[in-house]
Amino acid sequence: MPSRKFADGEVVMGRWPGSVLYYEVQVTSYDDVAHLYIVKYKDGTELALKESDIRSQSSFKHRKSQSSSSSPARRSSSRSRSRSPGRPGRGRRRSASQSREHKDDKKKANQETSLALPVLKPSENNTKRYNGEPESTEQNDTSRRVLEQKLKPDLEIKHVLEQYSLRPRKDEKKKEEIYSEKKIVTTVKTIEKVPSKPELEFGGRIGTFLMIFFLPATVFFLLLMCKQDDPSLMNFPPLLPALESLWETRVFGVFLLWFFFQALLYLLPIGKVVEGLPLSNGRKLQYRINGLYAFILTAAALGILFYFEFELHYLYDHFMQFAVSAAAFSLVLSIYLYVRSLRAPKEELAPGGNSGYFIYDFFTGHELNPRIGNFDLKYFCELRPGLIGWVVINLAMLLAEMKIHNLSVPSLSMILVNSFQLLYVVDALWNEEAILTTMDITHDGFGFMLAFGDLVWVPFVYSLQAFYLVGHPTAISWPVAAAITLLNCVGYYIFRSANSQKNNFRRNPSDPKLANLKFIPTATGKGLLVTGWWGFVRHPNYLGDIIMALAWSLPCGFNHILPYFYVIYFICLLVHREARDEHHCKQKYGLAWERYCQRVPYRIFPYIY
Ligand code: NDP
Repeated sequence: MPSRKFADGEVVMGRWPGSVLYYEVQVTSYDDVAHLYIVKYKDGTELALKESDIRSQSSFKHRKSQSSSSSPARRSSSRSRSRSPGRPGRGRRRSASQSREHKDDKKKANQETSLALPVLKPSENNTKRYNGEPESTEQNDTSRRVLEQKLKPDLEIKHVLEQYSLRPRKDEKKKEEIYSEKKIVTTVKTIEKVPSKPELEFGGRIGTFLMIFFLPATVFFLLLMCKQDDPSLMNFPPLLPALESLWETRVFGVFLLWFFFQALLYLLPIGKVVEGLPLSNGRKLQYRINGLYAFILTAAALGILFYFEFELHYLYDHFMQFAVSAAAFSLVLSIYLYVRSLRAPKEELAPGGNSGYFIYDFFTGHELNPRIGNFDLKYFCELRPGLIGWVVINLAMLLAEMKIHNLSVPSLSMILVNSFQLLYVVDALWNEEAILTTMDITHDGFGFMLAFGDLVWVPFVYSLQAFYLVGHPTAISWPVAAAITLLNCVGYYIFRSANSQKNNFRRNPSDPKLANLKFIPTATGKGLLVTGWWGFVRHPNYLGDIIMALAWSLPCGFNHILPYFYVIYFICLLVHREARDEHHCKQKYGLAWERYCQRVPYRIFPYIY
């Protein structure tokens, strides 16, 4: 269940970072991941505050009011003076020794406060050059201050506050509108909890319920259509296959063997171990990067099977049964994931899959990073059994084409489809570490959506072009093949460089290789790139991916729309995914995200969308 205390739009009292002063602020949004409220002061300053730094208005009594402003930013200089630990109390006399001691104290105190309590200035999110040189005349200190504040343990700040009486001077109190807390102990009880409705995606409970049936039905429909001689959209398969023909225990056994073989490779102590991005509790999980080794060892295992004359054709002959086995397995896995998530600590639940509605959480994934010991189930399924399985299926289709059509070499179309998709999978495994900053890992829980997507949708739908080519040979000329290859290369270049740029920036913003990039600082401490690929459109990686998707369908010719299912579906998926991400980023970054959108107006397609 959602745990936030204050609702969007609520007017509350927010502690100014590093001080004991509270000001009237309005809650604009809530960052589920960092558990921070984005609040707006009266002068427009936006900051991210912890719940413990926010109080309801009823817990304060109004002391004085001679100024209409309650913005801390407008009174920064006088307040920072009043908080100076070295400033003697009014009317106090000191001896010479006291004065010397005091001077030492003052020096020490100044040093300490400069660390713990940054000087308050009017501030606003702003664009800054990566190397520190301001791009525009405005200066943004907010994000730095908030970051410093977050990094500084509260205890240390409290210590400084206690050591030096940091109350505002009397005369300043006259000028300013100051609020003090009244009987916090008693009033805390009266703070009203405003239950905020969880925001549901994918059509909410009804949408997710229907998707659980719609997604498997789509896979089986596509596979049945592809098997037909005339796979026109209006030419529905005349007969549904008999239920008993969809299941073969031996096929399910082969699927299990495949899954656990990949799990075994994942457990091999080869490859480096890296840390993921910090979780909401600040902890970082460790991940072993050995996907490429798993791929190479799988290729070696296949080579051994070929040596013993194993027919990979078996996969083509039982394709539908394999899809049913994978779907059954993903359903059982999703049930297991949901049941175990009920015992997971609250902080380990996915921000988006923690609505309290069973079907919704079951579909979107309740637990963020389910693990059995060190075995990360989501991370494993994202890249191994499904993705490597996709390449194996493509290879099986290539061999099936040669066998069925009595070819000594595969068709040019089949070679293109196999090579493009092989490149995509090898790239994903080569850059395995980059997956740790994607939405799937950092935001989405592991539930039916990802389990079915990783284990069924990816291997059985993404291989549709190769499956189609087995039954519907398509001849293409060399110049056409060259043009399609060029298109794939352009898509790949955009996709790879955009993903690497963001990934490297997130991992190490001060990487000298990125020194030419500009970014907008945000209140969370993370920057938003506004030059390079991320200054071209807001999701350049999606653009590259879509261009590649088109290049994968073109070798299948223009006789049927079926092999174009992937690119059509993929555009819909990424447009929807982009909208989801925009929504999350707006919540996370508030004003800074709006400025980014002004600066980079197109979402995926330049000059179109
Ligand atoms: P992205 O890798 O695009 O990550 C989005 C996140 O990037 C945002 O939430 C934000 O996170 C960060 N971000 C956004 N704008 C900026 C910016 N200007 N500067 C810096 N950081 C920014 O999301 P996905 O996980 O959706 O995609 C990863 C890749 O996987 C893509 O190439 C996509 O095409 C591909 N993909 C492929 C699929 C397939 O089935 N083949 C399916 C889905 C995705 P934060 O600020 O928190 O870091």
